[in-house]
Amino acid sequence: MIICGTVEEIRRESRRAKSEGASVALVPTMGYLHEGHVSLVRKAKEMAGFTVVSLFVNPTQFGPNEDFEKYPRDFDRDRGICREAGVDALFCPSREELYPEGCSTYVEVQGGMALVLCGAKRPGHFRGVATVVSKLFIATEPNIAVFGQKDAQQAAIIRKMTRELNFPVKIVVSPIVREPDGLAMSSRNKYLSDGERSAAPLLKRGLDVAAEAYSAGERSAGKLIGLVSAVLGRSDLLRIDYVELVDGETLVPVGMLSEKPSLLAVAAFCGRTRLIDNIVLGAEG
Ligand code: AMP
Repeated sequence: MIICGTVEEIRRESRRAKSEGASVALVPTMGYLHEGHVSLVRKAKEMAGFTVVSLFVNPTQFGPNEDFEKYPRDFDRDRGICREAGVDALFCPSREELYPEGCSTYVEVQGGMALVLCGAKRPGHFRGVATVVSKLFIATEPNIAVFGQKDAQQAAIIRKMTRELNFPVKIVVSPIVREPDGLAMSSRNKYLSDGERSAAPLLKRGLDVAAEAYSAGERSAGKLIGLVSAVLGRSDLLRIDYVELVDGETLVPVGMLSEKPSLLAVAAFCGRTRLIDNIVLGAEG
């Protein structure tokens, strides 16, 4: 496994792989890897001959009062996981490599999609995400990039950005990987105390209760959102940030479910840790 710290190095490796006939897949991550990330690597390896994982805790996607400083980092562990998973190259740039001193150029995401769900709660977050993903695409020149459905809004925004900025990259979205009790895997789960960890699976339980009601014929967004909120309300340790039903592609809020896939998305603070989860309803019509 090759380890690259600069844009020049990863670009050279990517171009070399392509010149040898391989297509290149990129899996962008912020490190502290878990099985969810590994599932993206597996998907990348199925689709491409050369798989790059980027490890970069991107400062521009964190708000001033968020957890950038204390975000978990363990390069040695991540390197071992990537080697084990058969990653071909790791791209782990320094902050200065991607954001040189005095850097003042960003990718803005304007309008509806970036103003709902996490965009409403984390101003500037998707500007930071769009900027770093663009930089990673320009550095790595991948044919394919793999993202997780766990961050469904991020995936939808990146898909649109890729189209609108004419990046020649195929965006692939891979399913959410969960702990046995349903909690979506996340690097931030490390922050949870034992009590919080016991409460955290209520996010998925709430979504499941709504999915059951949907299967039984419920189509009202208000009712489904109410069901999720009621389940989250069972623990004093959980505080809802949002529960919303939006169109799966445009992220426009939905009042009544139709046959188009809709995203039922939740964000909640579990103690001081913000967790997100989602399910898609109406995918089979
Ligand atoms: P992060 O390191 O949290 O920025 O995540 C990097 C990528 O892994 C993103 O595309 C996430 O959506 C994806 N990811 C994170 N957690 C999971 C999970 N539990 N299942 C599937 N993909 C995930």
